[in-house]
Amino acid sequence: MPGKILILDSVPTNRIVLKVKLSNAFYQVAQASTLEEALNIIRTDVPDLVVVGSENAGDDEGVQLCAALRSSALAASLPVLLLTAQPTREYRLKALNSGADDVFAKPVTEAALLARIRSLLRTRDADEEWRLRDRTSGMLGFAEQSASAFEKQASILFATPDRSDGLRWRTQLQPLVPFTLMHKPLCEALSAMAKFATPDAFVIALSAKAPEEGLRLLAEIRARTATRHSGVLVVMPDNMSDTVIDALDLGANDVMAHGFDPEEMAVRLSNIIKHKRFRDNLRRNVQEGLEAAITDPLTGLFNRRYALPHLKRIAEFSSRNKRDFAVMVADLDYFKKINDRFGHAAGDIVLSVLANRLRNALRPVDLLARIGGEEFLIVLPATNREAATDVAARLCQVISREPVYIQKSDIQIPVTVSIGVAMASDHHTTGAISGTTLLDHADRARYGAKSTGRNQVSLETVTPPNLSYATRGH
Ligand code: GH3
Ligand code: MG
Ligand code: MG
Repeated sequence: MPGKILILDSVPTNRIVLKVKLSNAFYQVAQASTLEEALNIIRTDVPDLVVVGSENAGDDEGVQLCAALRSSALAASLPVLLLTAQPTREYRLKALNSGADDVFAKPVTEAALLARIRSLLRTRDADEEWRLRDRTSGMLGFAEQSASAFEKQASILFATPDRSDGLRWRTQLQPLVPFTLMHKPLCEALSAMAKFATPDAFVIALSAKAPEEGLRLLAEIRARTATRHSGVLVVMPDNMSDTVIDALDLGANDVMAHGFDPEEMAVRLSNIIKHKRFRDNLRRNVQEGLEAAITDPLTGLFNRRYALPHLKRIAEFSSRNKRDFAVMVADLDYFKKINDRFGHAAGDIVLSVLANRLRNALRPVDLLARIGGEEFLIVLPATNREAATDVAARLCQVISREPVYIQKSDIQIPVTVSIGVAMASDHHTTGAISGTTLLDHADRARYGAKSTGRNQVSLETVTPPNLSYATRGH
């Protein structure tokens, strides 16, 4: 379903003509002849976009309707297009400032209008998608709204065929916007980015003679991971309506189809930046939410929710590729006594110091997670028995080598861990073994290490169907 469009126009024939065009492009169309009627429709069945039609640009009817829509809570975030006869530059500026996303001169070229609608709906869909994901992480209680009080100044890169245009535009625009402006010739724009941070938005100038040069840059910007989320405003001389369509369909956020105009550019760029900020915030919220969902807040390690599925994937991968791997459970010795003697807060510090010591002693590829109060899961992919026992013994040493210093009460707390190790060695000859089975075995081995005196490693090799069991202290 391409989307729902609401036409707001007081003249019935205008509405009918437009409705036919939009219906032919498979949009669902609703009509309103007054603002009140439009708001009623929006209240009951929110459209994806509103097209405001105004008989002529001489009066301010269309501009006022756009402003009224923007200021109503119901329609504030809806894309709005304004269609009017012979809009002047001043009219266009007024309309953009009142909240219209674009202004079209009547009679409209159908293809251009549809390209603009497609582009606005694409943006709206993407926004909705992020909003939805943000709401999901919010509902799960993972993400707080990111503080956006302090925003870095937005940066804009001008890419123009002619270096001197870039400099001139930049100079004329600078007094009108609070953005950091840079300029580069078209052909250098992407290579320049290897040296600088990705700009928040690009302004790409197309020349009448070789517009494809700028369009190529636009396609590159949209294809690259680093620039995919940057805003793009394309500027081109009058009478290039086919190129306007190409630019929009290639992913330009906005197009100035009548050449450079500093005031118009200021409004359009501000809109692009506002939109990008909004979306960046949502994306960050979702990212932070996801991270919070899989992280233990005390130690910063992965939690159980992340660790168990990850262990399962390692087990499957290792079985497929006939690789050994080791699963360990490290459990702090006599932790209850530490809490009882020094207090829960000191216990928390011990846990986070311990987590750091373990993290520093492992490879980045190893999995380290806090899976219980004072229990840590360690998975070493592609590791044989000898290497695994060496690592486990080293972990015991790393933990017990120095006591944990609690600065606040100036005390030293001696700490040791007991580690149970389960090896998946050779199991691929007799069939795959699951991650959770190995975890159970590591857990059992850990009790072996506890019962034989703590601060040591106990190893269990799993070779189904017979399990051999060996205890090894150090
Ligand atoms: P063992 O050597 O046999 O492992 O003895 P233990 O005292 O370490 O084991 P036990 O299971 O009896 O006690 C674990 C303690 O860990 C009990 C619990 O209060 C404490 N604990 C669990 N999570 C936390 C935490 O987040 N912070 C603190 N400070 N203590 C915790
Ligand atoms: Mg313990
Ligand atoms: Mg325990």
